[in-house]
Amino acid sequence: MRNISYLNLKAINKPYQQAIKEALTEVLDSGWYLRGKCVERFESEWAAYCGQRYCASCSSGLDALTLVLKAWKEAELLKDGDEVIVPANTFIATFLAVSEAGLRPVPVDPDPITCLITTEGIERALTSDPRAIVPVHLYGQLCEMDEIMNLALRHNLLVLEDCAQCHGINHLFDRQRALVPETHHACAWSFYPGKNLGAMGDAGAVTTDSQWLSNMVRKLANYGSSEKYVHDCKGKNSRMDEFQAAVLTAKLPDLDRCNQHRIEIAHRYIDEIVGSDVSMPAVTTASVFHIFPIMSNKRDALQSFLAERGIQTQIHYPIPAHKQKAYPEWKELSLPVAEAMSSRELSLPCNQAMDEDDVSAVISAVNEFFAQNR
Ligand SMILES: *Cc1c(COP(=O)(O)O)cnc(C)c1O
Repeated sequence: MRNISYLNLKAINKPYQQAIKEALTEVLDSGWYLRGKCVERFESEWAAYCGQRYCASCSSGLDALTLVLKAWKEAELLKDGDEVIVPANTFIATFLAVSEAGLRPVPVDPDPITCLITTEGIERALTSDPRAIVPVHLYGQLCEMDEIMNLALRHNLLVLEDCAQCHGINHLFDRQRALVPETHHACAWSFYPGKNLGAMGDAGAVTTDSQWLSNMVRKLANYGSSEKYVHDCKGKNSRMDEFQAAVLTAKLPDLDRCNQHRIEIAHRYIDEIVGSDVSMPAVTTASVFHIFPIMSNKRDALQSFLAERGIQTQIHYPIPAHKQKAYPEWKELSLPVAEAMSSRELSLPCNQAMDEDDVSAVISAVNEFFAQNR
């Protein structure tokens, strides 16, 4: 039986084995392990790749999100307890960053087709008094940023894009159209090993066109200090290490090819999977398919059926963030779209470690299930 794992990181990193070994040796021999040449180089390459002027690295995606919010607090653009709009159907880190910064996440329901936060959803949340929004480019799909930016401008909202799942989508979004002031906008990235661009440990970064914001994030990530033993604000320790930066630099030139591979697999799934009780991701939305989500009322049975055939799948996410024990304040809140997604979503394997036959095997197994379970 063919065994198709959801994400085989060993296979994903295999093509860079030599480059990674060389990078590690170089870091080892340099005797310099934090805030050195490798980090500086990756920051400038990542900013250029993202089409933004500045990049400040840190040690995780959660910290990237948190540090931007804290930077805005330093500038008094936000204050303790301010509300921040977040989509309910996201990884918990989006919520936790808001909480960690001393702010309050206000969850909104996503669009039922694209699963993304929309201006309609944001507008419904404007009945309270939010100061910022965190659009999440969930599954690798790009939110309607032009509309969101316009709305942010009209309501004077800060915009923090959660880009943890959309590495490489930048080419599709003209950042020149970013309408809000430079200091009011940033993108937060995670380089967790399983992301489209993944390190070999934890790492994160913030990209922005604001030099002030980038400097403030860098300072907050380094004990609130830009000069040794001088502390301007209450920062934390959140630094990307030299080795992670070297790994990311080695993998970056191949990111577009890897994304293209994911997109090709996704299009085969969309074209070839058939069934009356299954819906595919919206093809109208630009995506780098960090996750390939299908929706079905028979999700659990389908997942077991595939597992019996050696095909590993995942669920993103089985409990919506607002229903987690960590957020008792939202226990009574009902967000039907996000809640339906958590019981219907199934993520099929979709990554560059898969070959044509793997993809065909997934397609036939899914189709077999729906033929048997009409
Ligand atoms: C992975 C992820 C994060 C957090 O990234 P870490 O590096 O694991 O802290 C944040 N938001 C979303 C949407 C994610 O998928």
